[in-house]
Amino acid sequence: MTGSPDLAPLRAAFGTRLVTEGPQLDARARDASIVTRPAAALLFAQSTADVATALRLADEMRLPIVPRGSGTSVTGSAVPPEGGGLVLDLSRMQRILEVDPDDLVAVVEPGVLTADLRRAAAAQRLFYPPDPASLETSSIGGNLATNAGGASGLKYGTTRDYVSALEVVVPGGAVLRTGARTVKNATGYALAQLFVGSEGTLGVITAATLRLLPLPTAERTVLAGFDAVEAAAAFVGRVLAAGLLPASLELMDRRAVEAASRIVPGALMGDAAPSAQDGDEAIVLCRLDGTELGATEAQEAVADMARTSGARLVHLPHDRAEEDRMWAARRAVTPALEQASPARLGEDVVVPRSRIVAMVGRIREIARQRRLTIVIFGHVGDGNLHPSILFDPVDRDQVSRMRAAASDLFTAALELGGLPSGEHGIGELKKDFLPLAVDPVALELMRSLKTLLDPHGILNPGKLFPDGRSPIQPQRR
Ligand SMILES: Cc1cc2nc3c(=O)[nH]c(=O)nc-3n(C[C@H](O)[C@H](O)[C@H](O)COP(=O)(O)OP(=O)(O)OC[C@H]3O[C@@H](n4cnc5c(N)ncnc54)[C@H](O)[C@@H]3O)c2cc1C
Repeated sequence: MTGSPDLAPLRAAFGTRLVTEGPQLDARARDASIVTRPAAALLFAQSTADVATALRLADEMRLPIVPRGSGTSVTGSAVPPEGGGLVLDLSRMQRILEVDPDDLVAVVEPGVLTADLRRAAAAQRLFYPPDPASLETSSIGGNLATNAGGASGLKYGTTRDYVSALEVVVPGGAVLRTGARTVKNATGYALAQLFVGSEGTLGVITAATLRLLPLPTAERTVLAGFDAVEAAAAFVGRVLAAGLLPASLELMDRRAVEAASRIVPGALMGDAAPSAQDGDEAIVLCRLDGTELGATEAQEAVADMARTSGARLVHLPHDRAEEDRMWAARRAVTPALEQASPARLGEDVVVPRSRIVAMVGRIREIARQRRLTIVIFGHVGDGNLHPSILFDPVDRDQVSRMRAAASDLFTAALELGGLPSGEHGIGELKKDFLPLAVDPVALELMRSLKTLLDPHGILNPGKLFPDGRSPIQPQRR
């Protein structure tokens, strides 16, 4: 698209609800990534009918649309397309339509915040497990479109595992209802799953029926501190090999702990703060849930295993308040690192669990070679790490080393049998790595599905599919 688009048909349909200037539009030029681009217009959808009208008109006008929830994407997937286009903001569709304890489902609009759904479920002793660290700000629509994970992925899986049915509007404006409220469904293609993780490129999710579980009655936490990141990662392997299934197994290196401790002081190491000077230590936070008895027994087993695995400290929280502070500190790592550095690229590599120690080694090697600080933390029990590259955006040499280091990270994950994203998605930032991560026939099928559902390419163009223009490029070897 070149020049400013003619928005008259949208203006006729939505009147003054179509925003074409001002701070609300300006704020939607960015998400939580390093990518920014201005939009031509913004519409706050209030109903499925609004979304259908917008998609019908945009298709006729050949106007690019980016669906948007809360804009916490870290891959540029929620940033407007080149040439501007329309930001279709779903954040005002935020009704929790049902929480049904008989069918164990919730029915929600896409703008509902993840934490609000979890609280509404918990009020009825029910549990919606997906828990991205952004849960207080990210939306269910965004979680579905990115297949968001979180700390509970180890035991409970990711957003995809909780989808029973979706209502989706596809380009042209048709409304598709797919899936069912039933526990089982062997009735035709699992079309709802197609839209999960599609990053707003295939359709706009306007309602979701999500599975719930009974709320675990008890949670216990173990904090284990190790002298080296590799030792901490190896401990995780031992826990899993012993047949224990914690809800969460999280790794934080010393820099991650120090950053989080500035936001939630004393929560992680308490009086057992690290003593070594060289910054090599790491902690593992392990959460066990279930019944009182089961969770307590599992907590003791994990604590014993930490002691016999060479942990320098093993700490069990004294009460629920201390436990909550520990997990709040874990969730604070990303914002804390953002405060601590002029800029940060938070990455999201995933490897088979057996390769975690190798991946940690590769990250440390990349940091040395590229002369950059890379903070290591993440959902180590899932093999999913968030190496965070700290850099100064005005230092061109650092920016170029940051890009090279990110490329090295994805390459290392792929070489270890992993992927360049476990939960954040591909977006704009790493689209040129997609051909290295998926089979060529599968990639061709993905392109065919995109063309079938979106023949004019209006939905979130420039995202997910490779075009040789992603900010992080594969290295020539
Ligand atoms: C501090 C912080 C911590 C984070 N922690 C985690 C974490 O632990 N785990 C994790 O997985 N992610 C995490 N993220 C990343 C981010 O929060 C997730 O990707 C989240 O799912 C995005 O939700 P959102 O509502 O902000 O979506 P947006 O950023 O608005 O959009 C993300 C993508 O979804 C599409 N989209 C949004 N709504 C719809 C819809 N209704 N229909 C179709 N497409 C739609 C957009 O087009 C875009 O492609 C974190 C981010 C931050 C800033």
